[in-house]
Amino acid sequence: MELIKVTSACCGTHQLPASAFFLTVYDGGNGDRLMFFCPRCKDEVGEWVNSLTGKTLVNLGVRSTTIVVPHEARERKGGPPITIEDVLDFIVDMHTMGAPA
Ligand SMILES: [Zn+2]
Repeated sequence: MELIKVTSACCGTHQLPASAFFLTVYDGGNGDRLMFFCPRCKDEVGEWVNSLTGKTLVNLGVRSTTIVVPHEARERKGGPPITIEDVLDFIVDMHTMGAPA
């Protein structure tokens, strides 16, 4: 069985079998998320990997799931950042329109 070498911020470098990992592939996103439990302290560890690394990991037997990122989430947003006043105005507008609280 082939071992995959990874580093966790908590405990350093490990070599784990493919079955110790889970990959979330974000189709249309900027990377894939690799998750595993640190064999030493048992903390959940996650790190972003590029899609080529993600494909390689899947070819090595890492289980995965794919989430399609909607087009709207990938659009560049313009304008200033939303402020707390914007949020409060939105809540007041929702109440004015009769939406449930
Ligand atoms: Zn650890």
